[in-house]
Amino acid sequence: MSKRDYYDILGISKSASADEIKKAYRKLAIKYHPDKNPDDKEAEEKFKEAAEAYDVLSNQDKKSRYDQFGHAGMGGQGGFGGGGFSMDDIFSQFGDVFGDDSIFGSFFGGGGGGRRGSRRTVGSNIRIKLKLSLAEMRNGVEKKLKYKRMVAAEGVKFGSCKHCNGSGVVKQVTQTFLGQMATQSACPVCGGMGQIIESKPSEANEQGLVSKEFETSLKIPGGVANGMQLSISGKGNEGPAGGASGDLIVLVEEIPHDELTRDNNNVIYNLWLSFPEATLGSSVEVPTLDGKAKIKVDAGTQPGKVLRLKGKGFPEVNGYGKGDQLVVINVYIPKKVSSDEKELLLKLQGSEHFKPDEKGKSSFFDRLKDMF
Ligand SMILES: [Zn+2]
Repeated sequence: MSKRDYYDILGISKSASADEIKKAYRKLAIKYHPDKNPDDKEAEEKFKEAAEAYDVLSNQDKKSRYDQFGHAGMGGQGGFGGGGFSMDDIFSQFGDVFGDDSIFGSFFGGGGGGRRGSRRTVGSNIRIKLKLSLAEMRNGVEKKLKYKRMVAAEGVKFGSCKHCNGSGVVKQVTQTFLGQMATQSACPVCGGMGQIIESKPSEANEQGLVSKEFETSLKIPGGVANGMQLSISGKGNEGPAGGASGDLIVLVEEIPHDELTRDNNNVIYNLWLSFPEATLGSSVEVPTLDGKAKIKVDAGTQPGKVLRLKGKGFPEVNGYGKGDQLVVINVYIPKKVSSDEKELLLKLQGSEHFKPDEKGKSSFFDRLKDMF
């Protein structure tokens, strides 16, 4: 059967503009849409024909080749050349034509992927873990991800499933006491693919897929937290028989920091001071997620006091603002002293200044005030 002229199919002249081509195609797509013409083979053929014509004429490169050489110029390159494209390809390919058209959208529930009765099986999701340091989680980082993914093997030959006539579903009519009931289920022979594998290389599995090492990179935004999942659509396992790929789901795992811990968007650091340092005041270095920071500890600082380093915490992952680093003061009480030190301490013990009076003690409520 010789092919019809693409311009004739769309009912346009050779001088039609890109907009006219799109409009003409849209009109035919609506007219012959399979949801409007269920089980109508002729409408399906017309629908495919129009899609093929549009595929070529909407592409500058293919169009000029077609204008010059006709169908001979399209040999296998049009994508539709081999007749290998299915309805779902048409929907995913030309989603843009339907997507912005409210009439089409309301008629057919949006046009794009996910059509009911889809013949293609979507590939499964892949879940991997990604370990990140607190600094990476705070500042954001781009990571290379290496993982194994099921992809279509080369040299797999598909044929239409005879059991379901390529539809992927089987209908059953059963008699019940309520009358006839029609049910639809995935074809048990092809598993809903509508196609069966006629021949395949030995390394391919029964779905025609092989496991391959795959690499992609992922930009991680600052502020992610342990247990969060980031998902990259279409980077999971490929679907059998050309079905869409599943997603890659990346589970964030925190690598514990030696000295710093996270509390929501704040970073907590426990600073230990010696008894003389806390008494006399001191300037000390503390670790932060951007390196060391110097802080001043006032004379007479009480254990439990919290010093705040503004903005040294985590950013809000989906918003504004940043947490702080909270430096919690601890005072080390010696566990062992020499006899000289003991003598000194006994002297100090008698002093007024060393008696814990009500004013000097840091109460639980004072500490709470520091925290919030
Ligand atoms: Zn089947």
